[in-house]
This record gives sequence, structure tokens and C-alpha cells, in this order.
Amino acid sequence: MKIVIDRGRCTGIGICESVAPDHFEVDEDGTLQLISLGISEDERPLLEEAVRSCPARALRLENRLENRMENRVETQGAGQ
Ligand code: SF4
Repeated sequence: MKIVIDRGRCTGIGICESVAPDHFEVDEDGTLQLISLGISEDERPLLEEAVRSCPARALRLENRLENRMENRVETQGAGQ
């Protein structure tokens, strides 16, 4: 699982940081930084709450398995 930020939507308000401070940090420029590289399944409920709490809808969670499946479909479709 990974966190994906839509930087075009993120306004740097920092609600996600208040919900999950171990994963998000808004720096002095108002840019959101991800501060955790590894995400365990145990943390999913907290991160889902952070996604829901974002008023700009700038966050989403991606499953690595879904990524692999999407990549495979794209690769298969590329040569047709
Ligand atoms: S809550 Fe949303 S808009 Fe605010 S910093 Fe986090 S991702 Fe950006």
C-alpha cells in the first residue's frame, strides 16, 4: 500500500498531518511531505481516516497488488 498525493489539489492545510503525524508533515513552504516510507496494513484505518479528512480530496491509497495488475494490463495493451 502507498499514499498518493495529488499536488495540484493539495492546499497545505495540514489536516492529514493532524490525523496521522507519523506519515504527513507540511513544511514551512506549505508543501506536504510524506515522512513514512513503509506502511503496514495495521495502519490502513488511520490512513483511510486521513484520506477522508482531506477537504481537497488530494489523497488516496493505492494497493501495490492493484498497481502490478494495472501495469500488467497496460503492458499487455501496449503492443496491440
Ligand atoms: S489535508 Fe489534504 S489539502 Fe491538507 S495538507 Fe493534507 S493532503 Fe493537503
